[in-house]
Order: sequence, then structure tokens, then C-alpha cells
Amino acid sequence: MIFAKSAKDLEKMRAVGELVAEVREALRALVKPGISTLDLNNAADKMMRDAGAIPTFIGYHGFPYAICASVNHEIVHGFSKPDPLKEGDIISIDLAATYQGFVGDTATTVPVGKISEELEQLIRVTDECLELGIQAARVNNRIGDIGWAIQQHAEKYGYGIVRDYTGHGIGRKMHEAPQIPNYGRPGTKERIRAGYCFAIEPMLNIGTEETRTLSDKWTVVTADGKPSAHAEHTLAVTPEGPEILTLTKEQKTRRKAASAT
Ligand code: MG
Repeated sequence: MIFAKSAKDLEKMRAVGELVAEVREALRALVKPGISTLDLNNAADKMMRDAGAIPTFIGYHGFPYAICASVNHEIVHGFSKPDPLKEGDIISIDLAATYQGFVGDTATTVPVGKISEELEQLIRVTDECLELGIQAARVNNRIGDIGWAIQQHAEKYGYGIVRDYTGHGIGRKMHEAPQIPNYGRPGTKERIRAGYCFAIEPMLNIGTEETRTLSDKWTVVTADGKPSAHAEHTLAVTPEGPEILTLTKEQKTRRKAASAT
């Protein structure tokens, strides 16, 4: 069943959302050639704990790290490693925290130094798909409307849309009902109601949508070895529209200013 959150729950969802957003942006600022994903993981772990939060991923079905660090053809659930990132790489950083009993989940794909135009476009379109998916998360729409909004944009570029992993409801647990696929048909699946909280997370591949999992049993890669990008926000459905919870204070102010003009 899908849990609608109370006003009090939403206050806590806002708090944890802003917390993980601040960590995400701090990590983005650290990404440069020479830094390792293990460095990023350790920084994230410290920032979350210093803020009084628990890194939700650690121990989740046995996952050993605070972030999922997925480089180039890795899609999701990548392990952190001591190897330095190289100019031209892209890295998806996915993180979640538990704070006051609620979870915030967010991801972004960050260029390492200068990247190719092909990769710049992949990241840009993934971010656009996320935004379109979020805008479809409205009272009385359906889950299929979110998937459709993402799919129709991604397909304009011929990208493979990962089907093996989806967005999800979120709240006291990281993964709640419903599943939110990044493809779908308008007007299908569960009806969206006020108070629902979702993590929407398109994963787009330059090539095939097919995935495989490495022998570490976690790291998911593209079957053809071509690059993949990932972006995720946690949001609350309000009567006024979707409210993105995983924005920093500064990002919230900027969005408010942009929508006022
Ligand atoms: Mg997620």
C-alpha cells in the first residue's frame, strides 16, 4: 500500500531531503580528476553522520558503502574504490540518509573535468527527464504519466531507458510502494494523491537498455559497455503540485525566484 504522509511527516521529509541535497552538492564540488570514489564515499559518510543522520545504504541488503558510485558504463549500485577518477569520466553519485525516522534519496551524474559533448548531452537529457517526471507527479495523475513523461523525452534522443531498476515510494523506508518505472503509458497504474512521496530516478544509456550485474553482486553495468547517466530527486505531492524535497536551501531560493518571473 502507498502511505500518504501527514503534515508532520512532511516536515521531517523536508528536513532529510535538504540534508541529503547539501551532501550531494558538497560531493559535486569535490569531483575532479584524481579524487577517488572512496574519497567521495568517506566524505559523504562523515557529512551525514556529522549532521546527525545515518547513511541509509550501509547495510541495506548488505550494501557496504554510504554512496553508490557508478562510473561511466556503471549504471547504479557501484562500489567505492581507491582508483582515481580521470578527466572525461562521468560519475553517478547516489546517496540516501535516514534522519528523524525518515529517508531522503537523491542522485546526480557529475562530469570529471572536461567531458565529451556526447556525455554532456546524456547528462543534460537525464536531468531534463527527471524534471519532466517530477512535473507529472500531480494529484489525480497516475504513475504511468510519470513514466511516459520520462520515456517520450529520452526516446527523442534514442537513449536506452533502463527497465530493470525503477523509482519508488519513499518515507519511513527507502523503498516503499509504488514502483515508478521510467517508461509507461499515460493514464495507467496507481492514481497519485496528496501526501505521497516519491523518489523519481531516470537512468539513461547511450546504447542498449540491457543491464548486467558484476561478480560483486551489486554493480550494475550496461550490457554493451556504453555510458549511462542517472538523476534522482525525492518529492512530495502537494495539492499545489510536486514539491522537490532534495534541494539545497540555495536551490530552493533560486527555483522560487525563477518560477516567480
Ligand atoms: Mg532511489
